[in-house]
Amino acid sequence: VADPNARSPDARRDFNRARILDLLRAAPASRAELCARSGLARSTVTGLVTDLIAQRAVVEILDERTPDRRVGRPARRLRLAPRDDLVVAIDLGHRHCRIGVLDSCARIIVDDYTAMDVDSSADRALGHASTVIADMLAGLGPDRSRVVGGAIGLPAPVNPVTGTVGPGNVLPKWVDRHPAAELQRNLGVPFALDNDANLGALAEIAFGVARGLSDLIYVKASTGIGAGLVLRGGLYRGSTGRAGELGHVPVDPAGPLCRCGNRGCLETVASVTQVLAMMQPPHERPMTMARLVELVSAGDVGANRVLGDVGRVMGRVLADVVNNLNPEMVALGGELSLAGAPLLAGVRESIDRYAQPGIARDLRIQLGELGADAQLLGAAALALGETEQSLAQRR
Ligand SMILES: [Zn+2]
Repeated sequence: VADPNARSPDARRDFNRARILDLLRAAPASRAELCARSGLARSTVTGLVTDLIAQRAVVEILDERTPDRRVGRPARRLRLAPRDDLVVAIDLGHRHCRIGVLDSCARIIVDDYTAMDVDSSADRALGHASTVIADMLAGLGPDRSRVVGGAIGLPAPVNPVTGTVGPGNVLPKWVDRHPAAELQRNLGVPFALDNDANLGALAEIAFGVARGLSDLIYVKASTGIGAGLVLRGGLYRGSTGRAGELGHVPVDPAGPLCRCGNRGCLETVASVTQVLAMMQPPHERPMTMARLVELVSAGDVGANRVLGDVGRVMGRVLADVVNNLNPEMVALGGELSLAGAPLLAGVRESIDRYAQPGIARDLRIQLGELGADAQLLGAAALALGETEQSLAQRR
C-alpha cells in the first residue's frame, strides 16, 4: 500500500476510514483498541468513528461480559452495522406479475403472485405493481425506511444505456417505456430494470447452482426462450441489450413463422406452449406444465421422448454458443426446466455431439436450483448490487 501521508487530506481520510472498517470487519473493538491496532491518533479515530456511526456503517454495543475495569461499566465496543437493507423485486412474465420484498440475504419477507396478461398493457401491469408495492411498504410499518431500492425483470430486451424496452415484436406494447423510472417516480425509491434471463443468471450466480462461477450461460425456457450471459464475472448485455436471444436462433429454415418475423426459430419448437401442444394429442385432459412434470416422473414414454427431442434441439443451438464462449456452466432454468432430467439429457447429448470435445468435456450442464424463484431473486440481487455501487460512489 502506498504511503497515505503522501496523499491529499481527503485521500488520507478515506484511507484511514477504510482501515478502521477493515479492523471492525475482523472483530468488534473499543476505540482504544482501534487506536492501538491502527496506530492512529485518538482524535483521528474518534472523529472517524463519530462519522461512521452517523452514516449507520458502524454501531456501538455495550459488552456486558467484559466490563471496563477502570470505570466499572460495560465496555463500549464498536462493530459493523448489520446490513439491514430491504429491496423490492418484481418478476414480470408474459402472463404473471410476482412482487416481493426481500432482505439482503434474499430471504422473501412478503410476496404476491397475480396471474395477468402483462403483454397487452404496460399501464395496467405497472399500475398493478405500484398498488401492490405501496400496500407492501405500508404493511412494513417502521421497517419501510429499510427499503433502499428495487428492480424489475421483463421478458424483453432492455437497452442498458437508456433503460427503455427495446423495439421489436417481443413485447410491442412496452416498446420505449421506461418502467424503472416510472416506478421510481411512483414509489420514491431507485429502481433498476433488466431482462428476465439476465436476472435468472444473476440469481443462480449469487444464490444458486452457479455460486462462485464467473462464466455462465443461463437458459430461461418458458413461454419465450432467452439466455443470460455472465462473462468474466459480469452480465454481458450487448451494445443494445439484445445479447442472448437464444430463442430466435433458426433451427428449421422452412419451419413455422415466429413472433419475431423469422421462420423456424428455436422458440417455435421448444417453448412451453409448443411442448404442451406436442404432448396434447394422445391425452384427453388439457395438458399443463404440472401434468407434464407428473408424466415425466411416472416414466411416461411419450413425455420423456418429447422433452428429450426438445433438449437435443436446444443443445444443438447451445453447442455453437459454448464453442464461441467456452463457459464453465450451462444452467437450465424457466418453467420447462421443471420437467428436468430428460430435457437435461437431450441438451447434454447434443453438446457432446456438436461442441468441441475439449469444451464439452469440461462444461458442467445443470438444472438451475432456484426454479420459479430465479427471476424474483435475480431482481433482488440486481437491486442490492446497484445499491452497493451507488453507496460506494457516494463514499
Ligand atoms: Zn423468432
